[in-house]
Amino acid sequence: MSSPRSLPRFRCLMEGLCCRMSPITILPFEKPILELLAERLGVEIEITPGYTLYDRAGGANIALSYVLHLDRDGRCPFLSKRNLCMIHGVYKPYTCRSYPYVPREVRYIIAEKARLIYARVEYGLSSHCPVIARDMELIGERLAENPGFIAEYMPREYEAAVEAEEKRRLLLAGLSGLWRRGVVDLVEKRPGAPVLNLYDLLRKYYPGLPLELGVNKVLARLERLG
Ligand code: SF4
Repeated sequence: MSSPRSLPRFRCLMEGLCCRMSPITILPFEKPILELLAERLGVEIEITPGYTLYDRAGGANIALSYVLHLDRDGRCPFLSKRNLCMIHGVYKPYTCRSYPYVPREVRYIIAEKARLIYARVEYGLSSHCPVIARDMELIGERLAENPGFIAEYMPREYEAAVEAEEKRRLLLAGLSGLWRRGVVDLVEKRPGAPVLNLYDLLRKYYPGLPLELGVNKVLARLERLG
């Protein structure tokens, strides 16, 4: 009887390929952090709204996600010439931390009657990652035996994905709360309307939010770096 082929734990090759592949989706509170880091590092970045909903009460589209764009050379603006992430030790977006375990599809569900908004997110492994591409067959075998295999195979990346979704849930719960209180009145995105960051909106009503999201810790880290 042949013994099962061994599969080592996931280990990034540090080639920076994923930092040259596609724009990076970020959560609303990550936008000001990345803007601050870009300013400190003298790096030019472009961040545009991702998924938005129109708020009839405030007359603005509220951004529930954003996109950090690659530069003209097709590289993440935070990727150094030596292919190292310049912000690794300070704050790396969740999408980067969980890579190659990434959200394949994010569906925002809007329950108008209940004034509730939540997300259904489907995660999967990116076959663009050379480690995943190399080990795809073995990973498939392990997943067939154990659907919870990803948490064992790449615990750090899996944890980052879990944390990202906890934070997304917190933000959407905050927005649903404002909807139920009548502070916002949400409908489909209205093209051309001004855009308001969901994090900026929520902070006005939930002063403890930066602490809950861990933004305070990042800012303190930045302070220490001077
Ligand atoms: S932020 Fe860092 S890890 Fe993420 S894509 Fe940019 S260089 Fe890569």
